[in-house]
Amino acid sequence: MPEFEEYVEEIKNLWETRWLTNMGEKHNALQDKLCEYLSVDNVSLFTNGHLALEAAITVMGLSGEVITTPFTFASTTQAIVRCGLTPVFCDINPDDYTIDVNKIEELITDKTSAIIPVHVYGNVCDVHKIEEIAKKHNLKVIYDAAHTFGVRVGDQGIGLFGDASMFSFHATKVFNTIEGGCVTYSDSSLTKKLQIQKNFGMADQESYPEVAGNAKMNEFQAAMGLCNLRHVDGEIKKRKAVVEHYIDRLDGIDGITVWKPQKGINHNYAYFPVVFDEVKFGKSRDEVAQMLGAEGIFARKYFYPITNEFECYKGRFEIQQTPIAKKVSMEVLTLPLYADLAISDVDRICDIILK
Ligand SMILES: *Cc1c(COP(=O)(O)O)cnc(C)c1O
Repeated sequence: MPEFEEYVEEIKNLWETRWLTNMGEKHNALQDKLCEYLSVDNVSLFTNGHLALEAAITVMGLSGEVITTPFTFASTTQAIVRCGLTPVFCDINPDDYTIDVNKIEELITDKTSAIIPVHVYGNVCDVHKIEEIAKKHNLKVIYDAAHTFGVRVGDQGIGLFGDASMFSFHATKVFNTIEGGCVTYSDSSLTKKLQIQKNFGMADQESYPEVAGNAKMNEFQAAMGLCNLRHVDGEIKKRKAVVEHYIDRLDGIDGITVWKPQKGINHNYAYFPVVFDEVKFGKSRDEVAQMLGAEGIFARKYFYPITNEFECYKGRFEIQQTPIAKKVSMEVLTLPLYADLAISDVDRICDIILK
């Protein structure tokens, strides 16, 4: 959170304008600033990331099947299914947990209309190979970029890849607007379509070309974003120091695989996933989580269960097995990570794990 006074200062003039939502001054200012910060051509703001993803899927006019991975937060697969599409689950690669690009093509059928990969934990998918496959088979690509706010591939913003990307600004993410999110995209003709999607299908006050709901970002959310954007680089720097200390303490321990930066990527240090091999380490992921919990430290089993095991999908469509995603989901734990996490607390967490 920003300092209380900074936020109060930012929202003060709303008591004069009385303009609280519906694409106000704060909303428009944040949209412009995010175009710049993310180095993208277009940003469309939403009240949360999930509805931003559903809107992106809808405006692409997809049908039939969408290839995606089950190693993600519920939102990715739920958005696909809620949009009336069939998810086809592709396994992940064991190094960075993103979609295994060598397994995509065997899943393509004449019903496939898109690929929705996930830059999971802030790790960047093989964007070039995915683009090549999509071009060859005439598929749309929408990235779930919820974890990759501010991530860069060389000097390119991560939101430049694919037809669109969705970022989440939820309170738990690297950058937050309390709740919030956006779609970034290159084709400017999508601007109007996304606007209609977030505003009841309304083109103007007397014209409703689409069936749609309400997903607008309000002025108080945008004001939070304007404040937090001033500090996000500092936050990422502090997160980096926390992650580097975790790596110092845990890398090289038998049975532990720690998160490592990818080559050529400017990371945002969103998550610190650690994989425990029960046989080599001597304790299972669940046992480690329990022992940390007993000390008041709440690590999360991100991502367990994988989405192709959700009971709500049983019997609805064919479920592809994804053995690598399954294995990682049984062994992974994301350790506590936030900018103000004290190095002494990182040591305490690591001491408990190593003991
Ligand atoms: C957080 C998250 C979302 C949803 O974003 P909200 O802003 O919470 O709606 C989608 N996908 C992934 C991978 C996420 O982590």
